[in-house]
Amino acid sequence: MQALLKHLVDITCQRDHTLLDTSIVSALRELVGASQVRVHELFRYRDELFVRPRAWVRDDQVVSQEEGPDNHGEPITNYPSLVECIKQRKNHTEESGPGGEHVLWLPVWLNDKVNTCLEVINPVPYSGDTLRMIEGILCVYRNYQNILDYSERDSLTGLLNRKTFDEKFSRLLAANVPEATPQDQEERRLQCSPEIGQWLAVVDIDHFKRVNDQFGHLYGDEVLILVANLLRQSFRSQDRVFRFGGEEFVVLLRSTTLDDARKIFDRFRANVEQHEFPQVGRVTVSVGFASISTESPVMILGHADQALYYAKANGRNRVCFYDELVSSGELHSEVSNVTVEFF
Ligand code: GH3
Ligand code: MG
Ligand code: MG
Repeated sequence: MQALLKHLVDITCQRDHTLLDTSIVSALRELVGASQVRVHELFRYRDELFVRPRAWVRDDQVVSQEEGPDNHGEPITNYPSLVECIKQRKNHTEESGPGGEHVLWLPVWLNDKVNTCLEVINPVPYSGDTLRMIEGILCVYRNYQNILDYSERDSLTGLLNRKTFDEKFSRLLAANVPEATPQDQEERRLQCSPEIGQWLAVVDIDHFKRVNDQFGHLYGDEVLILVANLLRQSFRSQDRVFRFGGEEFVVLLRSTTLDDARKIFDRFRANVEQHEFPQVGRVTVSVGFASISTESPVMILGHADQALYYAKANGRNRVCFYDELVSSGELHSEVSNVTVEFF
């Protein structure tokens, strides 16, 4: 009873999804005596559903995806029991693993949808009491996820908000610093081969004031929602899209070459240009991007911001890359005054 209360207190004092995931892994591992507990994310990519672990137990420690290299996940069809469980809208299903272990799948249902699921692996079968306890903890986890979602997201567009950007970006930069284990260092070395990088883009709607002035704020808001939808459709689930403020958005693009980053940002720009906005018609965006180096968050944002202002000053509806503008002499490598406004 005391251990259960301790874990419930632990789960409900988290202010962040990653810590919430790791606290539920700890709770279930200890309370059930499980040999493995994983929190999986379920996401769609090109009309197919994928599963990717977000937190799990490694070498007796609870670790999260944010600390490790990118994992592109596996098709959910690799887990037929889970597929069947979701199809039948069940709260859990149990199966035998290859070594005779007992694997419990627990989809987390939110308004008829599943974005998260838990996998608990135990050497012995689950008793009725254990199952009831796991389901109780799962309810607390689900309710808490709801509350966190509310505080992390912007209420108009549903995108992650500025506060969440500040937290996630600092964490991403911290994770770029080499870590202790040789395995991690090797994975990171492979991942950081010269051409693969992380990129930050600032996206700003062109002449948005005109939309408000001409059509009114309600139509302006509608454009913001539609641009947010185009952002969601244009990037992968492991990339992160934030509403930075007003009609400005920030995208963190993970593990991509410069060429691909340019193509991906330009494809999004073209998606907006080709979209027919009800009543308003045509809307365009300008994008400035920079590589996520070991420099400070202020510097990196400042670089993307300078590239954005260059795009604005040179015709709008275009994507500009900071390093390229500096090497061609069109920009000087100093932080613009505008950066100060960001912080
Ligand atoms: P530029 O191409 O240089 O970016 O021009 P712009 O008109 O987009 O830029 P400016 O910064 O002058 O105007 C931004 C406008 O965005 C002004 C502000 O009223 C509007 N805006 C900011 N937040 C919201 C919002 O939540 N809803 C609506 N409807 N308008 C917003
Ligand atoms: Mg604008
Ligand atoms: Mg703006």
